[in-house]
Amino acid sequence: MIETDFATLLAHDPGEGGGPVVPPIHQTSLFTFASVADMAACFAGDRPQPVYSRGDNPTVQAFEAKMAALEGGEAARGFASGMAAIASTILAFVAAGERIVCVEHVYPDAYRLMRRLLPRLGITTTFVDGRDTEAVGRALEGAALLYLENPTSVVFHTQDVAALTGLARAAGAVSVLDNSWATPIHQRPLAQGVDLVIHSASKYISGHSDTVAGVVVGSRDRLARIMQLTYPFLGGKLAPFEAWLLLRGLRTLALRMARHQESGLAVARHLAAHPLVRAVHHPGLCEDAGGLAGFSSLFSIELAERVDVARFCDALRLFRLGVSWGGHESLVFPAMVGLRQAGEANSLQAFAVGDHLVRLHVGLEAPHDLVQDLQQALNTAA
Ligand SMILES: *Cc1c(COP(=O)(O)O)cnc(C)c1O
Repeated sequence: MIETDFATLLAHDPGEGGGPVVPPIHQTSLFTFASVADMAACFAGDRPQPVYSRGDNPTVQAFEAKMAALEGGEAARGFASGMAAIASTILAFVAAGERIVCVEHVYPDAYRLMRRLLPRLGITTTFVDGRDTEAVGRALEGAALLYLENPTSVVFHTQDVAALTGLARAAGAVSVLDNSWATPIHQRPLAQGVDLVIHSASKYISGHSDTVAGVVVGSRDRLARIMQLTYPFLGGKLAPFEAWLLLRGLRTLALRMARHQESGLAVARHLAAHPLVRAVHHPGLCEDAGGLAGFSSLFSIELAERVDVARFCDALRLFRLGVSWGGHESLVFPAMVGLRQAGEANSLQAFAVGDHLVRLHVGLEAPHDLVQDLQQALNTAA
């Protein structure tokens, strides 16, 4: 097989000569058979044909094939959301009485899954600072699964992924990494020894803020286990139309990520030099980039004490107030409001997030316009 360049993989949709350049949306719940013999052969596993769209659908399969190729994995599964992918993966590899080791500051709903639901099923989680490789190694003794997010949410700490997955392998634990932030453009975890890569495809993979979806990539055997234990029963399948939108998003992923990287760094550097900004949490501004080959444009800043956070956010014109990220548009999210909304009294301590921390997503607008917008909002709020 020819080693295909990323740019080609992204832009090219495999298809028959003479067919449509864009693969069709197979908007159907079921697939019929020409004969009982065909049906029996399919059910026996001798004839690869989709049966029902809770299992397989050709549009979804086209997306899965592309994601597997991008991450360098043997197989992939699309899900209705990033959280469906995370829950279905964890539950396929961890049983009652077993334990997860998870790095601190993962995506808040992944954290709550491990704090609220999994203990009810007899699964416990040890949270460890992912920057402390030795501490993760100690915690891994007797653990069934290592859960990584590089960089983490909100504070954007990086991990030594290759070292941690080596420790997980030695301990007999399966390793999982949420790669939503970097995308396969900037980080290919399977090449660093990670067993399963997860994405919230709602973010950069979609890139247009019009889809909620998830995906898991890994070896054929590990994906087969997810198919045997969780995927068909939890029912969190990806819809054909969403898969079609994701295929559209992927065609421009490399272009978008290059622009996000450039603009994100430009805005982050400007803010790092600003007297009203106490700190900027962006892996590209750290000495140790944690093995990332490049950077996306989601990062956080800590505003000076005398900046009114609400006034700052309200004064922004181009950065819009909202959750999520990875689309064309710039967004601002005051961490305190988001965590309060979740109704968890201890969440500020749990996530070690201060009042003056604000998350920014730098979109595809002109960076000098975004810098101007931030400047006028800081002036208004100080
Ligand atoms: C958004 C997000 C998720 C959850 O994805 P959904 O598609 O919203 O379910 C998981 N991980 C990270 C890092 C995220 O930002």
